Amino acid sequence: MPITTEDTVRWLHQLAQVLHENRDYLTQLDSAIGDADHGINMDRGFKAVMEKLPAVEQMDIGSILKTVGTTLVSTVGGASGPLYGTAFLRAGIATAGKHELYESDVVTMLEAALEGIKARGKARPGEKTMVDALTPALAAAKDAEAQHLGLAELLHRATGAAENGMRATIPMLATKGRASYLGERSIGHQDPGATSSWLILKTLFQSFNP
Ligand code: ADP
Ligand code: MG
Repeated sequence: MPITTEDTVRWLHQLAQVLHENRDYLTQLDSAIGDADHGINMDRGFKAVMEKLPAVEQMDIGSILKTVGTTLVSTVGGASGPLYGTAFLRAGIATAGKHELYESDVVTMLEAALEGIKARGKARPGEKTMVDALTPALAAAKDAEAQHLGLAELLHRATGAAENGMRATIPMLATKGRASYLGERSIGHQDPGATSSWLILKTLFQSFNP
């Protein structure tokens, strides 16, 4: 069973809700190693997405994701707006014209999103950013695709890998973004952006398995 346009719309609705519920948590993580606004940024961005969604929800998945991207770029300040904006834009380009996504489409979409983030932010794995959640998630998705495990298992494994990647940011020294200003004091804190990346994937998995 593929991911449909309806699944995509349900995912985005649930994601707006999840990011709203985690607004304080993400902000608290960002207060330790940043400027205490990551939850506020994500909540603001996805509230704006909710306003734009009705106009595009009958369209193909690519158009929906591109709208998410442009909305995040224009409404979210800070690093995460342009980074997630680029990720959703690239994901939208990768899924242009599609109304159903199969395993290989999801891998292509995740890869495009991660490449967009890396192109924009120049972060590599190990620098304590969202890249540290998304890189293992993509690897797990590729593995699951190669093993023909099906879409639900692919999303489940990608989510688990993102969660492990998120936890692995705790002992890392930040060398990108605001957290890098703290140097050694960034060690011992979980990265807010890796945490929101995990929430994004977890919600995709959950909305696909209602
Ligand atoms: P800001 O840091 O501008 O306040 P946010 O607080 O919304 O923006 O987002 C912070 C998150 O952005 C970090 O936790 C990190 O995961 C991510 N981030 C910051 N800089 C980069 C970068 N160059 N590449 C990838 N991710 C980054
Ligand atoms: Mg911040």
